Amino acid sequence: MITYPWNGPPASGEAIELAEGVLWLRLPLPMALDHVNIYALDEGDSWTIVDTGIHSGRSIALWEEVLDGPLQGRPVSRVILTHHHPDHIGMAGWLMARYGAELLATRTSWLMARMLILDEEPRPTEQALAFWRSAGMNAEIFARRKEERPYNFADICHPIPVGYTRLRQGDVLCAGGRAWDVHIGNGHAPEHLTLWSRDDALVLAGDQVIASISPNIGVYPTEPEADPLNEWLESCARLRTLARDDHLVLSGHKLPFTGLPFRLTQLLENHHGALERLAAHLATPRVASECFAPLFKREIDEGTYGLALVETVAHLNHLHRAGRASRRRREDGAWLWTMTGDG
Ligand SMILES: [Zn+2]
Ligand SMILES: [Zn+2]
Repeated sequence: MITYPWNGPPASGEAIELAEGVLWLRLPLPMALDHVNIYALDEGDSWTIVDTGIHSGRSIALWEEVLDGPLQGRPVSRVILTHHHPDHIGMAGWLMARYGAELLATRTSWLMARMLILDEEPRPTEQALAFWRSAGMNAEIFARRKEERPYNFADICHPIPVGYTRLRQGDVLCAGGRAWDVHIGNGHAPEHLTLWSRDDALVLAGDQVIASISPNIGVYPTEPEADPLNEWLESCARLRTLARDDHLVLSGHKLPFTGLPFRLTQLLENHHGALERLAAHLATPRVASECFAPLFKREIDEGTYGLALVETVAHLNHLHRAGRASRRRREDGAWLWTMTGDG
């Protein structure tokens, strides 16, 4: 069972102390998922910050408020990144520039963050267009996106300089008066960091495990044949062997919760269920953009179309790798997917 010890998030510019020396802060995001959680670990004369929000004028103003307010004007000595997504890395470079803070991350997170911030694209690349065509993107949305500036990390992330400290599976990190075991997840983002306290029951989970939403598992033009769902399922099963009912899970979004073993089981079952519904849906050949209904319980509008598409491709690639689906090119370049044999 999942329980939420706190009914709601901290107010803007304020913090909630979740455990001794562990503060919960929240920053807004200008998207459907409208917030990100940030955790501040008390180091006595400074703070270790876990994740940072996107880089924007509004974020800077809120960070100033938080640094002067709940963080009591003490400097940030370390920034830990759970994974490379902009809502987590956006303000890392800003905090580093301001305080000379050390950056800690997994190697893949750091490389992805640095590469994607530097890789500015005024228009979608040929590879992105080919990827969208392969997925059978809605013609109107395709025509519009082709002429628009795409989602660029540089627009919402402060630059990150070279120089970081690598965290890897099996490391033990000291922060906030606790020793934390490093366990690496995958699927939502490659080499996603999770931290498990040895001294109490806290787990810093980033977006690897979230209570009330299923983390997006997406395939992108950088690696169009990837099977992140397989890595995701492996991570959930592995982390479940570590999970305890008394763990208090501090995620990148939504509320802190207990019931981690249950939640991991639920996430695994949800994805297996989605795969079965998708396999049945492929009794008739379909392109990826025609496969939203069996995967998502909510309406897919233009705001969530991109995320839905990359997640659908992830499920299709997984069935393909498992030999359960095959595909052929339609005339317009889209992959037409169908079940193989008995599915
Ligand atoms: Zn994420
Ligand atoms: Zn996130």
